[in-house]
Amino acid sequence: QVKSTGRNGFAFFNTEINEAQLARRRMEAELRGACERGEMAVHYQPLFEIASDRVVGFEALVRWRRDGEDVSPAVFIPIAEESGSIIEIGRFVLREACREAAGWPVKLRVAVNISALQIQDGGLPDLVATVLEETGLEAGRLELEVTESLLLANAEAATEVLARIRALGVTISLDDFGTGYSSLATLRMFPFDKIKLDRSFVNDLGRLGEAEAIVMAVLGLGRALDVSVVAEGVETEEQAAMLRAAGCSLLQGYLIGRPAPIARFSAEVGRDVTSRMTKTPIPADSP
Ligand code: C2E
Ligand code: MG
Ligand code: MG
Ligand code: MG
Repeated sequence: QVKSTGRNGFAFFNTEINEAQLARRRMEAELRGACERGEMAVHYQPLFEIASDRVVGFEALVRWRRDGEDVSPAVFIPIAEESGSIIEIGRFVLREACREAAGWPVKLRVAVNISALQIQDGGLPDLVATVLEETGLEAGRLELEVTESLLLANAEAATEVLARIRALGVTISLDDFGTGYSSLATLRMFPFDKIKLDRSFVNDLGRLGEAEAIVMAVLGLGRALDVSVVAEGVETEEQAAMLRAAGCSLLQGYLIGRPAPIARFSAEVGRDVTSRMTKTPIPADSP
C-alpha cells in the first residue's frame, strides 16, 4: 500500500525544513555578539614533543557556552563562517590565546586556528601584528593553523596574506593534512612550518595497513621538505608507539590531553596560570 504523498506529507516535509532553517537562523543571530556577551571561551590542547618528552605548546580551541551548554565548534564554526561572525570570533580567540600565552611562566608556543574568511578579510596581518604588540607575546611563540580548502579558494591572495604574517616571525601550520582534494599541491603553494596529519589516518593505525603506509609516506615527505609533522588525534599507547617508531616528532590527542581551560595545565605552563581576567584582584592595602 502506497502512502499518501498528498497535502499532509508535503506540509510535514515543509515544516521540517522550516524548523532546521529556523534553528540555523537562531544560531546565526545568537552568534552575533556572543563574544561580547562573554559566551565564548578558549580551551587548550597540549602538543607533545617526542624527542624532549615534553609538552611544547598548546592549540587554542574555541568553546561556545550557549544557554549553559557547550556547542561544538564543528557545529557553529561553519555557521559563523557563513554569517560572517567568524571575524569577531576569530579576533576574540587570537587576542585571548595571545594574552593568556604571554602570561605563562614557561614560554611554550600557542597555535590558533584561522578560517578562510579571516584570510579573505584582508585585515589579518595587521590584526596579528597589533595583537602581538598589545599582548607582548613574542611572534615566534605564535602559530596559525590553516586548512588547504582555505588556500584553494583564492590561492594567490591567500598565500600573500600568509607570507605577510610569516614575515612577522609567526609560523604557519597546514591543518588536517590529507583530507583535501590536493594536499600535495597545497604543499607547493606555501612554505609551511608544520604539517598536521589529520586524525583519520592516525585513527586507522594498527587497523588498516594503508593507514600505516600513508603515515610513513607523510613522515617521509616531512623529512624531505624539512617540515615537522604533527600526528593529530592520538588516542592509544599503541598509536603513539607506532608513530614514535616511525620517526614522528610531535603528537596531539586525547592520550596526551583533552582540550581544557589552561588552568588545568598549570604543571606544563608554570604554576601561576590563572587567567588575569578571572583572577580575583587583591586590594593593594589588604592586610
Ligand atoms: P582542528 O583544528 O583540527 O582541531 C582538532 C580537533 O580534534 C578538536 O576538536 C579537538 O578537540 C579534537 N581532538 C583532539 N584530539 C583528539 C582525539 O584524540 N580524538 C578525537 N576524536 N578528537 C580529538 P574541536 O575543538 O571540536 O574543534 C573542531 C574544529 O573546529 C577544529 O579542528 C577547527 O577546525 C575548528 N575550530 C576550533 N576552534 C576554532 C577557532 O578558534 N577558530 C576557527 N576558525 N576554527 C576553530
Ligand atoms: Mg587546528
Ligand atoms: Mg586538525
Ligand atoms: Mg579540523
